Amino acid sequence: MSFSELGLIPEILQAVTDAGYTEPTPIQRQAIPVVLAGHDVMGGAQTGTGKTAGFTLPLLNRLARHASTSTSPARHPVRALILAPTRELAMQVFESVKMYSKHLPLRSTCIYGGVDMNPQIQELRRGIEIVVATPGRLLDHVQQKTIALGQVEFLILDEADRMLDMGFIPDIRRILALLPSNRQSLLFSATFSDEIKKLADQMLKNPQLIEVARRNMVSETITHVVHPVSSGLKRNLLAHLIRHEDESNQVLVFVDTKFACSRLAHFLERHEISADSIHGDKSQQARTETLENFKSGKIRVLVATDVAARGLDIEDLPSVINFELPHTAEDYVHRIGRTGRAGKKGKAVSLVSAEERHRLADIQKLIKLEIHQEVVPGYEPEVDFFEGESGRRRKTSAPTARQQAESSSNDRRKRPERPERERTAPRGRQNHIAPDGFDFSKPYEATNPIAPQQATAAPASAGRDIHKAQRPIAFLLGGLGRKA
Ligand code: AMP
Repeated sequence: MSFSELGLIPEILQAVTDAGYTEPTPIQRQAIPVVLAGHDVMGGAQTGTGKTAGFTLPLLNRLARHASTSTSPARHPVRALILAPTRELAMQVFESVKMYSKHLPLRSTCIYGGVDMNPQIQELRRGIEIVVATPGRLLDHVQQKTIALGQVEFLILDEADRMLDMGFIPDIRRILALLPSNRQSLLFSATFSDEIKKLADQMLKNPQLIEVARRNMVSETITHVVHPVSSGLKRNLLAHLIRHEDESNQVLVFVDTKFACSRLAHFLERHEISADSIHGDKSQQARTETLENFKSGKIRVLVATDVAARGLDIEDLPSVINFELPHTAEDYVHRIGRTGRAGKKGKAVSLVSAEERHRLADIQKLIKLEIHQEVVPGYEPEVDFFEGESGRRRKTSAPTARQQAESSSNDRRKRPERPERERTAPRGRQNHIAPDGFDFSKPYEATNPIAPQQATAAPASAGRDIHKAQRPIAFLLGGLGRKA
Protein backbone atom coordinates (compact mmCIF):
# COMPACT_ATOMS: atom_id res chain seq x y z
CA MET A 1 0.00 0.00 0.00
CA SER A 2 1.22 3.52 -0.74
CA PHE A 3 0.46 6.79 1.04
CA SER A 4 -1.44 8.04 -1.99
CA GLU A 5 -4.11 5.35 -1.42
CA LEU A 6 -4.92 6.73 2.02
CA GLY A 7 -6.80 9.81 0.84
CA LEU A 8 -4.27 12.44 1.90
CA ILE A 9 -4.07 15.77 0.08
CA PRO A 10 -1.13 16.48 -2.30
CA GLU A 11 0.59 18.97 0.08
CA ILE A 12 0.83 16.25 2.73
CA LEU A 13 1.83 13.53 0.28
CA GLN A 14 4.63 15.80 -0.89
CA ALA A 15 5.88 16.24 2.69
CA VAL A 16 5.80 12.46 3.18
CA THR A 17 7.83 12.00 0.02
CA ASP A 18 10.25 14.70 1.19
CA ALA A 19 10.66 12.76 4.44
CA GLY A 20 11.71 9.75 2.37
CA TYR A 21 8.85 7.47 3.45
CA THR A 22 7.82 5.08 0.72
CA GLU A 23 5.02 3.19 2.42
CA PRO A 24 2.91 3.64 5.53
CA THR A 25 3.72 1.63 8.66
CA PRO A 26 0.97 -0.65 10.07
CA ILE A 27 -0.27 1.95 12.55
CA GLN A 28 -0.37 4.56 9.79
CA ARG A 29 -2.34 2.22 7.52
CA GLN A 30 -4.86 1.69 10.27
CA ALA A 31 -5.06 5.12 11.88
CA ILE A 32 -5.01 7.46 8.91
CA PRO A 33 -8.35 6.44 7.31
CA VAL A 34 -10.07 6.29 10.72
CA VAL A 35 -8.90 9.77 11.75
CA LEU A 36 -9.72 11.18 8.31
CA ALA A 37 -13.26 9.83 8.72
CA GLY A 38 -13.58 11.89 11.90
CA HIS A 39 -13.62 9.06 14.47
CA ASP A 40 -12.14 9.15 17.93
CA VAL A 41 -9.27 6.71 18.39
CA MET A 42 -7.86 4.70 21.23
CA GLY A 43 -4.45 3.68 19.93
CA GLY A 44 -2.17 1.05 21.41
CA ALA A 45 1.24 1.66 19.93
CA GLN A 46 4.79 2.13 21.09
CA THR A 47 7.17 4.88 20.09
CA GLY A 48 9.07 3.71 17.04
CA THR A 49 6.06 2.37 15.16
CA GLY A 50 5.46 5.58 13.21
CA LYS A 51 2.51 6.61 15.37
CA THR A 52 3.40 10.31 15.29
CA ALA A 53 2.85 10.48 11.54
CA GLY A 54 -0.13 8.15 12.05
CA PHE A 55 -1.99 10.87 13.89
CA THR A 56 -0.28 14.01 12.53
CA LEU A 57 -0.87 13.37 8.83
CA PRO A 58 -4.67 12.95 9.04
CA LEU A 59 -4.86 15.76 11.60
CA LEU A 60 -3.17 18.13 9.15
CA ASN A 61 -5.40 16.85 6.39
CA ARG A 62 -8.48 17.73 8.44
CA LEU A 63 -7.07 21.10 9.44
CA ALA A 64 -6.09 22.01 5.89
CA ARG A 65 -9.51 23.53 5.21
CA HIS A 66 -8.64 26.19 7.81
CA ALA A 67 -5.20 26.94 6.37
CA SER A 68 -4.90 30.68 5.90
CA THR A 69 -2.14 32.99 4.78
CA SER A 70 -3.77 35.89 6.63
CA THR A 71 -1.51 37.62 9.14
CA SER A 72 -4.40 38.32 11.49
CA PRO A 73 -4.10 36.28 14.73
CA ALA A 74 -7.90 35.96 14.75
CA ARG A 75 -7.65 33.79 11.64
CA HIS A 76 -5.35 31.38 13.47
CA PRO A 77 -7.10 30.18 16.64
CA VAL A 78 -5.81 27.07 18.42
CA ARG A 79 -7.62 24.24 16.63
CA ALA A 80 -5.48 21.26 17.57
CA LEU A 81 -3.89 20.44 20.90
CA ILE A 82 -1.32 17.66 21.19
CA LEU A 83 -0.33 16.77 24.74
CA ALA A 84 2.89 14.91 25.48
CA PRO A 85 4.35 13.89 28.87
CA THR A 86 7.90 15.20 28.45
CA ARG A 87 9.59 18.19 26.89
CA GLU A 88 11.67 15.93 24.67
CA LEU A 89 8.65 14.08 23.34
CA ALA A 90 6.75 17.33 22.83
CA MET A 91 9.66 18.77 20.83
CA GLN A 92 9.93 15.64 18.80
CA VAL A 93 6.24 15.65 17.93
CA PHE A 94 6.51 19.34 17.10
CA GLU A 95 9.40 18.61 14.71
CA SER A 96 7.16 16.06 12.97
CA VAL A 97 4.26 18.51 12.78
CA LYS A 98 6.55 21.11 11.21
CA MET A 99 7.97 18.63 8.76
CA TYR A 100 4.61 17.23 7.61
CA SER A 101 2.94 20.67 7.43
CA LYS A 102 5.69 22.43 5.54
CA HIS A 103 3.63 22.78 2.37
CA LEU A 104 0.56 24.11 4.22
CA PRO A 105 0.03 27.59 5.71
CA LEU A 106 -0.75 26.14 9.14
CA ARG A 107 1.06 27.49 12.18
CA SER A 108 2.38 25.32 14.97
CA THR A 109 4.34 25.79 18.18
CA CYS A 110 5.65 23.80 21.12
CA ILE A 111 5.23 24.89 24.73
CA TYR A 112 6.88 23.18 27.67
CA GLY A 113 8.09 24.03 31.15
CA GLY A 114 11.54 24.79 32.50
CA VAL A 115 12.07 27.72 30.14
CA ASP A 116 11.01 31.39 30.04
CA MET A 117 7.29 31.75 29.24
CA ASN A 118 7.63 35.05 27.39
CA PRO A 119 8.82 33.79 24.00
CA GLN A 120 5.97 31.25 24.12
CA ILE A 121 3.50 34.06 24.89
CA GLN A 122 4.77 36.10 21.91
CA GLU A 123 4.41 33.08 19.67
CA LEU A 124 0.86 32.32 20.88
CA ARG A 125 -0.16 35.96 20.32
CA ARG A 126 0.63 35.62 16.61
CA GLY A 127 -2.12 33.04 16.32
CA ILE A 128 -1.29 29.31 16.15
CA GLU A 129 -3.45 26.45 14.87
CA ILE A 130 -1.51 23.52 16.30
CA VAL A 131 -0.10 23.58 19.82
CA VAL A 132 2.10 20.76 21.08
CA ALA A 133 2.40 21.05 24.86
CA THR A 134 3.31 19.44 28.13
CA PRO A 135 0.32 19.58 30.50
CA GLY A 136 1.83 21.69 33.31
CA ARG A 137 3.05 24.53 31.11
CA LEU A 138 -0.18 24.53 29.14
CA LEU A 139 -2.09 25.10 32.38
CA ASP A 140 0.32 27.93 33.27
CA HIS A 141 -0.67 29.62 30.02
CA VAL A 142 -4.34 28.98 30.68
CA GLN A 143 -3.98 30.56 34.10
CA GLN A 144 -2.24 33.61 32.65
CA LYS A 145 -4.86 33.79 29.91
CA THR A 146 -2.19 33.66 27.24
CA ILE A 147 -3.90 30.80 25.41
CA ALA A 148 -7.55 30.34 24.47
CA LEU A 149 -8.77 26.77 24.02
CA GLY A 150 -12.39 27.53 23.13
CA GLN A 151 -11.96 26.63 19.43
CA VAL A 152 -10.05 23.38 19.83
CA GLU A 153 -11.43 20.80 17.39
CA PHE A 154 -8.78 18.10 17.85
CA LEU A 155 -7.19 16.74 20.98
CA ILE A 156 -4.39 14.20 20.92
CA LEU A 157 -3.05 12.66 24.10
CA ASP A 158 0.25 10.96 23.39
CA GLU A 159 1.81 8.35 25.69
CA ALA A 160 -1.07 8.43 28.15
CA ASP A 161 0.53 5.70 30.27
CA ARG A 162 3.60 7.86 30.78
CA MET A 163 1.32 10.74 31.73
CA LEU A 164 -0.11 8.45 34.38
CA ASP A 165 3.36 7.36 35.60
CA MET A 166 4.37 10.99 35.90
CA GLY A 167 1.27 12.05 37.80
CA PHE A 168 -0.23 14.21 35.03
CA ILE A 169 -3.71 12.73 34.95
CA PRO A 170 -5.28 15.43 37.20
CA ASP A 171 -3.77 18.09 34.89
CA ILE A 172 -5.19 16.28 31.87
CA ARG A 173 -8.63 16.23 33.48
CA ARG A 174 -8.37 19.99 34.12
CA ILE A 175 -7.45 20.56 30.47
CA LEU A 176 -10.32 18.35 29.23
CA ALA A 177 -12.75 20.51 31.17
CA LEU A 178 -11.55 23.57 29.22
CA LEU A 179 -12.13 22.10 25.75
CA PRO A 180 -15.27 22.20 23.63
CA SER A 181 -17.08 18.87 23.89
CA ASN A 182 -17.65 18.82 20.16
CA ARG A 183 -14.18 17.74 19.11
CA GLN A 184 -12.29 14.75 17.73
CA SER A 185 -10.01 13.08 20.28
CA LEU A 186 -7.25 10.52 20.00
CA LEU A 187 -5.55 8.78 22.89
CA PHE A 188 -2.34 6.80 22.47
CA SER A 189 -0.92 4.57 25.14
CA ALA A 190 1.38 1.57 25.25
CA THR A 191 -0.79 -0.05 27.93
CA PHE A 192 -4.38 0.24 29.03
CA SER A 193 -4.65 0.07 32.80
CA ASP A 194 -8.00 0.73 34.49
CA GLU A 195 -6.96 4.32 35.07
CA ILE A 196 -6.20 4.86 31.39
CA LYS A 197 -9.49 3.21 30.43
CA LYS A 198 -11.33 5.55 32.79
CA LEU A 199 -9.61 8.52 31.20
CA ALA A 200 -10.44 7.20 27.72
CA ASP A 201 -14.11 6.82 28.70
CA GLN A 202 -14.16 10.43 29.77
CA MET A 203 -12.27 11.75 26.78
CA LEU A 204 -13.37 9.67 23.78
CA LYS A 205 -16.71 9.14 22.06
CA ASN A 206 -17.27 5.72 20.44
CA PRO A 207 -13.56 5.32 19.86
CA GLN A 208 -12.14 2.92 17.31
CA LEU A 209 -9.49 0.70 18.84
CA ILE A 210 -6.24 0.51 16.92
CA GLU A 211 -3.49 -1.69 18.25
CA VAL A 212 -0.21 -2.69 16.68
CA ALA A 213 1.94 -4.08 19.47
CA ARG A 214 1.80 -4.87 23.12
CA ARG A 215 4.20 -3.16 25.44
CA ASN A 216 5.85 -6.46 26.31
CA MET A 217 6.67 -7.12 22.70
CA VAL A 218 10.06 -6.17 21.39
CA SER A 219 10.93 -5.53 17.80
CA GLU A 220 11.97 -8.71 16.03
CA THR A 221 14.69 -6.83 14.22
CA ILE A 222 16.67 -6.43 17.45
CA THR A 223 19.49 -8.80 18.39
CA HIS A 224 19.93 -9.15 22.14
CA VAL A 225 23.14 -10.09 23.90
CA VAL A 226 24.20 -10.22 27.54
CA HIS A 227 27.84 -9.87 28.57
CA PRO A 228 28.25 -11.35 32.06
CA VAL A 229 30.86 -9.14 33.77
CA SER A 230 31.87 -8.27 37.30
CA SER A 231 30.54 -4.89 38.33
CA GLY A 232 34.06 -3.49 38.85
CA LEU A 233 35.00 -4.21 35.22
CA LYS A 234 31.90 -2.78 33.59
CA ARG A 235 33.30 0.65 32.71
CA ASN A 236 36.32 -0.86 31.02
CA LEU A 237 34.21 -3.38 29.16
CA LEU A 238 31.94 -0.60 27.95
CA ALA A 239 34.91 1.37 26.58
CA HIS A 240 36.24 -1.84 25.00
CA LEU A 241 32.93 -2.63 23.28
CA ILE A 242 32.50 0.90 21.97
CA ARG A 243 36.05 0.94 20.62
CA HIS A 244 35.31 -2.26 18.74
CA GLU A 245 32.18 -0.83 17.17
CA ASP A 246 32.28 0.80 13.79
CA GLU A 247 33.45 4.42 14.44
CA SER A 248 30.33 5.79 12.81
CA ASN A 249 27.98 3.82 15.04
CA GLN A 250 26.43 5.89 17.78
CA VAL A 251 25.51 4.27 21.05
CA LEU A 252 22.91 5.09 23.67
CA VAL A 253 24.01 3.84 27.10
CA PHE A 254 21.54 3.47 29.96
CA VAL A 255 22.46 3.78 33.62
CA ASP A 256 20.39 3.78 36.81
CA THR A 257 21.31 7.07 38.44
CA LYS A 258 22.01 10.70 37.49
CA PHE A 259 25.30 10.53 39.35
CA ALA A 260 26.48 7.43 37.47
CA CYS A 261 25.35 9.09 34.26
CA SER A 262 27.76 12.04 34.36
CA ARG A 263 30.57 9.97 35.83
CA LEU A 264 30.36 7.39 33.08
CA ALA A 265 30.31 10.03 30.34
CA HIS A 266 33.45 11.60 31.88
CA PHE A 267 35.12 8.21 32.08
CA LEU A 268 34.50 7.62 28.37
CA GLU A 269 35.75 11.09 27.50
CA ARG A 270 38.94 10.37 29.44
CA HIS A 271 39.29 7.28 27.26
CA GLU A 272 38.99 9.38 24.11
CA ILE A 273 35.44 8.35 23.29
CA SER A 274 33.28 11.41 22.69
CA ALA A 275 30.42 11.18 25.14
CA ASP A 276 27.91 13.27 27.05
CA SER A 277 25.13 12.59 29.49
CA ILE A 278 21.46 13.49 29.71
CA HIS A 279 19.59 13.32 33.02
CA GLY A 280 16.95 15.10 35.04
CA ASP A 281 19.35 17.43 36.92
CA LYS A 282 20.52 19.10 33.73
CA SER A 283 18.82 22.28 32.60
CA GLN A 284 16.44 22.03 29.68
CA GLN A 285 18.87 23.98 27.53
CA ALA A 286 21.75 21.66 28.38
CA ARG A 287 19.57 18.62 27.63
CA THR A 288 18.46 20.06 24.30
CA GLU A 289 22.05 20.90 23.33
CA THR A 290 23.31 17.45 24.27
CA LEU A 291 20.54 15.79 22.33
CA GLU A 292 21.20 17.98 19.29
CA ASN A 293 24.92 17.17 19.49
CA PHE A 294 24.10 13.49 19.59
CA LYS A 295 21.58 13.69 16.76
CA SER A 296 24.03 15.61 14.58
CA GLY A 297 26.77 13.07 15.31
CA LYS A 298 29.03 15.50 17.19
CA ILE A 299 29.07 13.10 20.11
CA ARG A 300 29.20 9.39 19.67
CA VAL A 301 27.93 8.11 22.98
CA LEU A 302 24.97 9.42 24.93
CA VAL A 303 24.67 8.19 28.51
CA ALA A 304 21.13 8.52 29.83
CA THR A 305 18.84 7.67 32.70
CA ASP A 306 15.44 6.16 31.98
CA VAL A 307 13.57 9.34 32.83
CA ALA A 308 15.73 11.57 30.62
CA ALA A 309 15.51 9.15 27.73
CA ARG A 310 11.73 9.02 27.64
CA GLY A 311 10.45 9.99 24.27
CA LEU A 312 13.88 10.42 22.68
CA ASP A 313 13.61 9.77 18.99
CA ILE A 314 17.00 9.20 17.55
CA GLU A 315 16.75 7.91 14.06
CA ASP A 316 18.60 4.83 12.95
CA LEU A 317 20.39 4.11 16.23
CA PRO A 318 22.22 0.82 15.70
CA SER A 319 22.72 -0.12 19.33
CA VAL A 320 21.64 0.45 22.88
CA ILE A 321 23.82 -0.67 25.79
CA ASN A 322 22.42 -1.30 29.24
CA PHE A 323 25.32 -0.48 31.54
CA GLU A 324 23.04 -1.73 34.27
CA LEU A 325 19.86 -3.67 33.73
CA PRO A 326 16.76 -1.67 34.64
CA HIS A 327 14.94 -2.46 37.87
CA THR A 328 11.71 -3.21 36.07
CA ALA A 329 11.59 -5.55 33.10
CA GLU A 330 9.26 -3.25 31.19
CA ASP A 331 11.89 -0.52 31.21
CA TYR A 332 14.14 -2.89 29.26
CA VAL A 333 11.53 -2.91 26.51
CA HIS A 334 11.31 0.88 26.58
CA ARG A 335 15.09 1.28 26.55
CA ILE A 336 15.71 -0.99 23.63
CA GLY A 337 12.82 0.58 21.76
CA ARG A 338 15.41 3.23 20.77
CA THR A 339 16.96 0.79 18.36
CA GLY A 340 15.51 -1.48 15.68
CA ARG A 341 12.92 1.14 14.76
CA ALA A 342 10.71 1.15 11.72
CA GLY A 343 11.95 -2.27 10.63
CA LYS A 344 15.67 -1.43 10.89
CA LYS A 345 18.14 -3.77 12.53
CA GLY A 346 19.25 -3.01 16.06
CA LYS A 347 21.38 -4.43 18.82
CA ALA A 348 20.58 -4.47 22.54
CA VAL A 349 23.67 -5.18 24.64
CA SER A 350 23.48 -5.61 28.41
CA LEU A 351 26.37 -5.69 30.86
CA VAL A 352 25.18 -7.91 33.68
CA SER A 353 26.88 -8.59 37.00
CA ALA A 354 26.00 -11.48 39.32
CA GLU A 355 23.77 -9.34 41.50
CA GLU A 356 21.64 -8.36 38.50
CA ARG A 357 20.79 -11.92 37.46
CA HIS A 358 17.31 -11.74 38.91
CA ARG A 359 16.62 -8.63 36.80
CA LEU A 360 17.79 -10.56 33.75
CA ALA A 361 15.44 -13.40 34.66
CA ASP A 362 12.50 -10.99 34.88
CA ILE A 363 13.35 -9.46 31.50
CA GLN A 364 13.68 -12.81 29.77
CA LYS A 365 10.37 -13.86 31.17
CA LEU A 366 8.68 -10.69 29.99
CA ILE A 367 10.06 -10.74 26.47
CA LYS A 368 9.77 -14.53 26.21
CA LEU A 369 13.34 -14.86 25.07
CA GLU A 370 16.42 -16.56 26.47
CA ILE A 371 19.01 -13.90 25.76
CA HIS A 372 22.30 -15.19 24.43
CA GLN A 373 25.17 -14.71 26.92
CA GLU A 374 28.75 -14.09 25.93
CA VAL A 375 31.72 -13.46 28.22
CA VAL A 376 34.31 -11.11 26.78
CA PRO A 377 37.81 -12.40 27.73
CA GLY A 378 39.50 -10.17 30.28
CA TYR A 379 36.10 -8.95 31.51
CA GLU A 380 34.82 -12.00 33.34
CA PRO A 381 31.89 -11.96 35.73
CA GLU A 382 32.02 -12.70 39.44
CA VAL A 383 32.64 -16.40 40.03
CA ASP A 384 29.10 -16.98 41.22
CA PHE A 385 27.50 -15.59 38.07
CA PHE A 386 26.82 -18.97 36.50
CA GLU A 387 25.87 -20.75 39.66
CA GLY A 388 22.38 -21.56 40.85
CA GLU A 389 20.65 -19.67 43.59
CA SER A 390 22.36 -21.70 46.33
CA GLY A 391 25.74 -21.03 44.78
CA ARG A 392 24.99 -17.35 44.73
CA ARG A 393 24.48 -17.33 48.43
CA ARG A 394 27.65 -19.32 49.13
CA LYS A 395 30.11 -16.52 48.55
CA THR A 396 33.09 -18.75 49.28
CA SER A 397 32.18 -21.44 46.80
CA ALA A 398 34.90 -22.38 44.36
CA PRO A 399 34.45 -21.98 40.61
CA THR A 400 33.16 -25.09 38.86
CA ALA A 401 35.45 -27.11 36.64
CA ARG A 402 33.73 -25.65 33.59
CA GLN A 403 34.23 -22.10 34.82
CA GLN A 404 37.91 -22.79 35.47
CA ALA A 405 38.25 -24.18 31.98
CA GLU A 406 36.46 -21.16 30.61
CA SER A 407 38.65 -18.71 32.56
CA SER A 408 41.80 -20.18 31.08
CA SER A 409 40.59 -19.87 27.53
CA ASN A 410 41.96 -17.06 25.40
CA ASP A 411 39.11 -17.11 22.95
CA ARG A 412 35.85 -15.35 23.32
CA ARG A 413 33.55 -18.08 24.41
CA LYS A 414 29.94 -18.82 24.28
CA ARG A 415 27.98 -19.48 27.39
CA PRO A 416 26.02 -22.69 26.92
CA GLU A 417 22.27 -22.38 26.95
CA ARG A 418 20.87 -22.48 30.45
CA PRO A 419 19.63 -25.97 31.07
CA GLU A 420 16.80 -25.17 33.42
CA ARG A 421 14.17 -22.56 32.78
CA GLU A 422 13.41 -22.51 36.50
CA ARG A 423 16.67 -20.75 37.09
CA THR A 424 15.42 -17.74 35.26
CA ALA A 425 12.25 -17.47 37.31
CA PRO A 426 11.99 -14.12 39.09
CA ARG A 427 13.22 -14.39 42.65
CA GLY A 428 10.83 -13.35 45.31
CA ARG A 429 8.20 -12.20 42.85
CA GLN A 430 5.01 -13.06 44.66
CA ASN A 431 2.69 -11.38 42.24
CA HIS A 432 2.96 -12.02 38.54
CA ILE A 433 0.42 -9.40 37.59
CA ALA A 434 1.92 -6.09 36.47
CA PRO A 435 0.23 -2.82 37.42
CA ASP A 436 -1.21 -2.62 33.89
CA GLY A 437 -2.84 -6.01 34.28
CA PHE A 438 -0.30 -7.93 32.21
CA ASP A 439 0.19 -11.45 33.49
CA PHE A 440 3.91 -12.27 33.42
CA SER A 441 3.29 -15.95 33.96
CA LYS A 442 1.25 -16.39 30.79
CA PRO A 443 2.64 -16.51 27.29
CA TYR A 444 1.95 -13.63 24.97
CA GLU A 445 -1.27 -13.89 23.11
CA ALA A 446 -1.94 -11.47 20.31
CA THR A 447 -5.12 -9.54 20.92
CA ASN A 448 -5.19 -8.43 17.34
CA PRO A 449 -4.23 -10.44 14.28
CA ILE A 450 -2.35 -7.43 12.89
CA ALA A 451 -0.11 -7.26 15.90
CA PRO A 452 3.55 -8.05 16.26
CA GLN A 453 5.11 -9.01 12.94
CA GLN A 454 3.50 -6.24 10.97
CA ALA A 455 4.32 -3.73 13.64
CA THR A 456 8.01 -4.12 12.99
CA ALA A 457 7.72 -4.64 9.26
CA ALA A 458 10.55 -7.14 9.66
CA PRO A 459 11.16 -10.01 7.31
CA ALA A 460 10.13 -13.32 8.86
CA SER A 461 13.75 -14.45 8.96
CA ALA A 462 14.74 -11.50 11.15
CA GLY A 463 12.68 -12.93 13.99
CA ARG A 464 14.49 -16.24 13.77
CA ASP A 465 17.86 -14.48 14.05
CA ILE A 466 17.15 -13.38 17.58
CA HIS A 467 16.68 -16.91 18.76
CA LYS A 468 19.93 -18.19 17.34
CA ALA A 469 22.05 -18.98 20.33
CA GLN A 470 25.47 -18.74 18.74
CA ARG A 471 26.61 -15.76 16.70
CA PRO A 472 30.09 -14.75 15.64
CA ILE A 473 31.51 -12.06 17.89
CA ALA A 474 32.35 -9.85 14.93
CA PHE A 475 28.65 -9.69 14.25
CA LEU A 476 27.87 -8.79 17.83
CA LEU A 477 30.54 -6.14 18.01
CA GLY A 478 29.82 -4.16 14.93
CA GLY A 479 29.32 -6.41 11.97
CA LEU A 480 25.65 -5.60 12.19
CA GLY A 481 25.98 -2.33 10.34
CA ARG A 482 23.19 0.05 9.46
CA LYS A 483 20.47 -0.83 7.12
CA ALA A 484 20.31 1.66 4.29
P1 AMP B 1 7.41 7.39 15.91
O1 AMP B 1 6.87 6.05 16.28
O2 AMP B 1 6.34 8.32 15.52
O3 AMP B 1 8.30 7.92 17.00
O4 AMP B 1 8.33 7.20 14.60
C1 AMP B 1 9.51 6.46 14.61
C2 AMP B 1 10.42 6.78 13.44
O5 AMP B 1 9.90 6.23 12.24
C3 AMP B 1 10.60 8.27 13.20
O6 AMP B 1 11.97 8.50 13.08
C4 AMP B 1 9.90 8.54 11.89
O7 AMP B 1 10.55 9.55 11.15
C5 AMP B 1 9.98 7.20 11.18
N1 AMP B 1 8.83 6.94 10.28
C6 AMP B 1 7.53 7.26 10.51
N2 AMP B 1 6.77 6.84 9.48
C7 AMP B 1 7.58 6.21 8.60
C8 AMP B 1 7.36 5.55 7.34
N3 AMP B 1 6.16 5.43 6.81
N4 AMP B 1 8.44 5.05 6.71
C9 AMP B 1 9.68 5.14 7.27
N5 AMP B 1 9.95 5.75 8.45
C10 AMP B 1 8.91 6.28 9.12
